[in-house]
Amino acid sequence: MLQDTYGRSFSYLRLSITDVCNFSCTYCLPDGYQRCHKETFLSLAQIKTLATSFSELGIEKIRITGGEPSLRKDLPQIIAAVKATPGIKKVALTTNGYKLTQQLPMWIANGLDNINVSIDSFEPTSFKLITGHDKLQEILDGIDQALASGFNNIKINTVLMKQHSANQLQQYFDYIKQRPISLRFIELMQTGDNEVFYNEQHVSGQFIKNQLFAQGWVQVEQDKSAGPAQVFSHPDYQGTIGLIMPYSKDFCATCNRLRVSSLGKLHLCLFSEQGLSLTDYLDNDDSEGLKDYITAQLRDKHATHYLTEGFSGATKHLSMLGG
Ligand code: SAM
Repeated sequence: MLQDTYGRSFSYLRLSITDVCNFSCTYCLPDGYQRCHKETFLSLAQIKTLATSFSELGIEKIRITGGEPSLRKDLPQIIAAVKATPGIKKVALTTNGYKLTQQLPMWIANGLDNINVSIDSFEPTSFKLITGHDKLQEILDGIDQALASGFNNIKINTVLMKQHSANQLQQYFDYIKQRPISLRFIELMQTGDNEVFYNEQHVSGQFIKNQLFAQGWVQVEQDKSAGPAQVFSHPDYQGTIGLIMPYSKDFCATCNRLRVSSLGKLHLCLFSEQGLSLTDYLDNDDSEGLKDYITAQLRDKHATHYLTEGFSGATKHLSMLGG
């Protein structure tokens, strides 16, 4: 099992397969995707080597992310390859939901276990304002189709923003009243590119927490290995609420994840100073060398990020690496 010097164990890999995104979310890519490198994205063969090596180091869950991972035509093959890796128990995907209605059944058939769909507002005008796309209803239809087919492992990621979140809270809660979905509010994080937006729009998750307690939601005890979300349930609601508060004290104490970018760089933290290139090992199919390198690098993982000090490392926007 991979462990760092602070006693944290790592069983979860977030693997970005592209940095291209077709949405232009106000907090991430407000001017749309601009390619700023000439490198190629991880190939299917490299992804297989990565999945095998990480699994041999104790990784049990791999989340495929981006950019927008569904823009890769070989996403179904990637899901199948990761799922077929001995030791990998769960394959998850984070998506903007753009291709949900057409492709989710194929992803599930290829072995997808869990999906996170990013929906920052359930109000169509706000959704379009945030993402640049008038696609809310289509994405919601895709989710309802999945639920109707019996696929229940769905989470929705919602980034908290002053402009939208405060006055739409009841809409978020209403959505999960009859749906067994985990809706997770994520505090807006500062990245290299979004400082002004962050200063204008950041809302603390404590604001949601207060509302939840006032409306009778109760916090559910979580296993230490469950990751950083605080989870709340309510007897009148089929769904649950998760709160991800990266600015809160001790947020990093339960960190259980590592990241690899679509350019084949290991990131020990979402906000680390640089990625550590794995491509030489991948190009030479050198799984033993790769495992030794990852294990050695993990000794340098810091106890926390430095977001509260305003330091977001080399991460200009999360599309570079996946959220
Ligand atoms: N395209 C996919 C999607 O939309 O879910 C995957 C990539 S996206 C970068 C992953 C997640 O990161 C999304 O839920 C997005 O809302 C979140 N995200 C992006 N930038 C963020 C920021 N600055 N603060 C908090 N969450 C952010």
